[in-house]
Amino acid sequence: MEEENKQGSEETASQGGSRRNFVRDIIDEDLKTGRYNTVHTRFPPEPNGYLHIGHAKSICLNFGTAKDYQGLCNLRFDDTNPTKEDVEYVESIQEDVRWLGFDWGDRMYYASDYFDKLYEYAVALIRKGKAYVDDLNADQIREHRGTLTEPGKDSPYRNRSIDENLDLFERMRKGEFPDGSKTLRAKIDMSSPNINMRDPVMYRILHATHHRTGDKWCVYPMYDWAHGQSDSMEGITHSICTLEFEDHRPLYNWFVDQLGIFRPRQIEFARLNLTYTVMSKRRLLQLVHEGHVRGWDDPRMPTISGLRRRGYTPESVRLFADRIGVSKADSVIDVSVLEDCLRADLNKRARRVMAVLHPIRVVIENYPDGQVEELEAVNNPEDESMGTRKIPFSKVLYIEQDDFREDPPKKYFRLSPGAEVRLRYAYIIKCVGVVKDPQTGLITELRCTYDPDTKSGSPASQRKVKGTIHWVSAEHAVDAEARVYDRLFNVPDPGGENWKSSLNPDSLEIVKGCRLEPGLAKAKPQDRFQFERLGYYCVDDESTEGHLVFNRTVTLRDTWAKIESK
Ligand code: ATP
Ligand code: MG
Repeated sequence: MEEENKQGSEETASQGGSRRNFVRDIIDEDLKTGRYNTVHTRFPPEPNGYLHIGHAKSICLNFGTAKDYQGLCNLRFDDTNPTKEDVEYVESIQEDVRWLGFDWGDRMYYASDYFDKLYEYAVALIRKGKAYVDDLNADQIREHRGTLTEPGKDSPYRNRSIDENLDLFERMRKGEFPDGSKTLRAKIDMSSPNINMRDPVMYRILHATHHRTGDKWCVYPMYDWAHGQSDSMEGITHSICTLEFEDHRPLYNWFVDQLGIFRPRQIEFARLNLTYTVMSKRRLLQLVHEGHVRGWDDPRMPTISGLRRRGYTPESVRLFADRIGVSKADSVIDVSVLEDCLRADLNKRARRVMAVLHPIRVVIENYPDGQVEELEAVNNPEDESMGTRKIPFSKVLYIEQDDFREDPPKKYFRLSPGAEVRLRYAYIIKCVGVVKDPQTGLITELRCTYDPDTKSGSPASQRKVKGTIHWVSAEHAVDAEARVYDRLFNVPDPGGENWKSSLNPDSLEIVKGCRLEPGLAKAKPQDRFQFERLGYYCVDDESTEGHLVFNRTVTLRDTWAKIESK
């Protein structure tokens, strides 16, 4: 293994706006020694699925680092695999990167932009005697490759003449040979201790239509051949990728050195893993295709589009990327770290409102019929500039079923027969009766009285009670559906072959008939609120004025951690 990049120091204290990390240390060193005089990175997704939170880490690292060094970051689609790629993915990826707050300017590229150039480079390597056409099939190539402890064996076709190789490669391109019958391989060293250096395949024959180049090509470059040259052509100084490519670095360097073209520096970091989540695109695709979720953007998915629909903000995702930092060591981050970043952001920006998810009717017996008072409520105690609003109070209200107990346990400070509670922004009420359905015995209504001297904020309101609950005025309330999400998996590490057996069957609860304060009637998709005492909610993309739908973004505090620490 080469010596470069070995200085990977661990994360150090935050400096200025962005945290120091070993990637920045390497960049600083390169700028100091003059190896490069600018910073140019790229984010290189393969358009074969939607982006997930792991990609978000890579996006923040690539775009964020470039930005901090006044450099540039390209968006490049690694579209070398025509059978798995789709324009739907190309579009969703652009939307997600933009939503995260990053901009590639006019530098959106595709590996397929370089198919001609890559072909020329391959011919140049053949001319140097550094690449050859092999007739072995995929299985035979694997058998010849050797193992970690045994060297590989040369292919019988390894010593073809340069002219023969040029002729065969040209005919491969023209479509004279069937899929899989030949490959172009680099001629390096079949006994190299690094298996990636044992004559890796550069081109395969594939008669497939490409989403951009159509039927122009029937030979397609392998990722390992396309990637480094694409970086080099774009003048990428720092090619940041995940750890599994560490062993490929000598190969990428070998290619650019043989071709005598610009050499980027590859820096590897540990990929993000999250508890209670699967992140491989193959598995996410399965969840979608087998109907375990409602689509790529299902709010339970770890995809960026899922997080967005769930109510995550770009700021919270960037904060998360910043908090977890980058390192060389594989680790699993607890999903609560992500949720905490979200709470931290929403706490500052989400408007507080009152919403009753499981309503029970309350009649205030001594409140005048037909009277409506407009009470003043604070929009966000964390941010005075968000102001106040008026909410209507009247004789018939709804409160949460949970906020009443006929037979209360000790230290239950909410409503129960004979007990008093404060209605937020309103009055102290007392429960004086319970109405039940004669057939089912279920409680249908609570009869209460209010104390007119206890109006919130009024000078006379000196009396204190222990509990405060939320409510809405029945006559004014708007109806809504709430989608209450829980984790998609019920084990921290849903890995292995049986990963689908740990899908949480209760990850979505649909609650209909929720009653909300009237100001929410015109809430639009993506509007975010804190439903007081319940959690953060955001308006779903499917919501309309006639049928409001809210997604629970996150609970107010980490109820899970609390349960688990007991
Ligand atoms: P998957 O394994 O989920 O299919 P991938 O690595 O094949 O992902 P790409 O589209 O090739 O997906 O990824 C684009 C970029 O995002 C790459 O540079 C890759 O290193 C990075 N990336 C992918 N997954 C993660 C992750 N979990 N954490 C950090 N970076 C990631
Ligand atoms: Mg990849």
